[in-house]
Amino acid sequence: MTMAWKHALVTGGSSGIGRAIALSLAGAGVAVTICGRRESELAKVADKADNIHAIVADVTDEDSVRALYAQAEAARGPFDIVVANAGIASSAPAHRTTLEDWNRIVNVNLTGAFLTVRPALAGMAERGRGRIVFIASVAGLRGSAYVAPYVASKHGVVGLTRSLAAELLKTGVTVNAICPGYVETEMLEQSIRRVMDKTGRSEEEARRGFAEINPNHRLIKPEEVAAAAMWLVSDAAISVTGQAIPISGGG
Ligand code: NDP
Repeated sequence: MTMAWKHALVTGGSSGIGRAIALSLAGAGVAVTICGRRESELAKVADKADNIHAIVADVTDEDSVRALYAQAEAARGPFDIVVANAGIASSAPAHRTTLEDWNRIVNVNLTGAFLTVRPALAGMAERGRGRIVFIASVAGLRGSAYVAPYVASKHGVVGLTRSLAAELLKTGVTVNAICPGYVETEMLEQSIRRVMDKTGRSEEEARRGFAEINPNHRLIKPEEVAAAAMWLVSDAAISVTGQAIPISGGG
């Protein structure tokens, strides 16, 4: 797929879903700026394609995001595509969730998503074109036990998607969320380790447990989520906005 778009931002592009999206966009000829907190992990992805550029930035830090925009847009022009993908997860019963843990999850997954896209909105609207894609989760569409801050943050991302889409309806800018089920990434590996520690299950049993939560009983590949993102940023999806699209193996 070749793209008219010139420059994309993918937060959390050093790992998992973000890395798959960055590689797909770069493969389609788009210059891609990736960010994350760990320089070493970003460098491994930037080494895979000449048109992937790494900048260390923390999406919870407004100044850090502002500096990223200034540096990346000065070098490669305004972002046509922004993929707010960076996210973290943890699990605990709600009554044992500390305020610190709540704030940590909400700050990255929801406030970080807002801070990621906000600087792009006015420019995209003025230029009359642009694509915003949030990586939410099926946790943005329904409740789940022991992950209250994660679920609340992802419901927030879906609400943010719908609000921004409504605000930008007549501008030529689309705003959508992708809602994956369990995807084979480093985040899932961490969840598998937590289950092994807490329940004494083997790695195989823990992995199978997560696969079985997806209705079709298979884990999703990051490339499947990237394919959905590529469709959302394509010309074919110009009439798709304000949607929260499950990539989840069923209802
Ligand atoms: P990974 O843990 O593999 O990747 C997360 C990425 O986010 C890393 O690049 C990480 O880099 C970056 N990141 C984390 N915190 C920050 C921060 N404060 N600022 C900038 N970057 C940050 O996870 P996935 O690829 O699985 O997750 C990507 C998105 O997909 C998340 O939003 C997640 O909630 C969502 N998702 C994942 C599912 C799954 O089963 N894996 C299912 C549904 C949704 P660094 O640590 O260096 O900052």
